[in-house]
Amino acid sequence: MKPVTSSSGRQQKERSVGKNSATRCAFTLVELLVVIAIIAILAALLLPVLGRARESSLKASCLNNHRQIITSTILYADDTDGAYPPRTRGMDQGHPCWPGRLLRYYSNIGLLVCPSDRKIPPPASGTRQVHPADVAPRSYMINGWNDFFLAPKRMPFNDQILFDKAIRETDLDEPAGTIVYGEKNADSAHFFMDFMEGEGNAWQELVWNMHNRNSQAREEGNRGGSNYSFADGHAEYIGYGGTFNPVNLWAVLEQFRHLAKGN
Ligand SMILES: [Zn+2]
Repeated sequence: MKPVTSSSGRQQKERSVGKNSATRCAFTLVELLVVIAIIAILAALLLPVLGRARESSLKASCLNNHRQIITSTILYADDTDGAYPPRTRGMDQGHPCWPGRLLRYYSNIGLLVCPSDRKIPPPASGTRQVHPADVAPRSYMINGWNDFFLAPKRMPFNDQILFDKAIRETDLDEPAGTIVYGEKNADSAHFFMDFMEGEGNAWQELVWNMHNRNSQAREEGNRGGSNYSFADGHAEYIGYGGTFNPVNLWAVLEQFRHLAKGN
């Protein structure tokens, strides 16, 4: 009787173990699926937050670039009786454009690139020797001061008239509301934001939403904004279109500051 009991007990025990084992396996699988589901939900929740945090840090880094470049411009003006860098084409080492002229004040060519921008260097020009800062990768454009120099002559946009002109700090009545630097397309080699140059030129070179876009496309529907630095030395983020409406912050003269884009 004892072996029979023992065999029956063993079979029962084996069935029991098999059942427990099956139960444990099934439970582990469900548990694994639950864990995977929780990880997927957490990832879906956290990735946009991490993306926004990353973009926020890139935007702050770009603002820091702006602050250093506008500070270097003010230091330059301190040494030139208040004159900003003159408008030159940066075509030779002896007459550099603003990135080359200001380099001794901002020191680091890397500051010319917004960290949210694609780093494509503008094309190097011709065979003549150019200042390295003038052909370095660059995300920023300086104000071309179009209305200030062209309106008194009642002239449309004309690069020859603007050539070698330098605006002075005392020419700017509203330094805290006058943009000196904005952000441009990475593949544009333009140095100057010429708002009187018309469609197809500076308007399209300027990027109105380098930061905080809803997608990669730089269209109005994706909103976002860009960073700008002003003549009083401050830098700030302004949403899409906010630099032209209600006030054209690129203009110097009162009558041009209140013209909407395209007028
Ligand atoms: Zn930027």
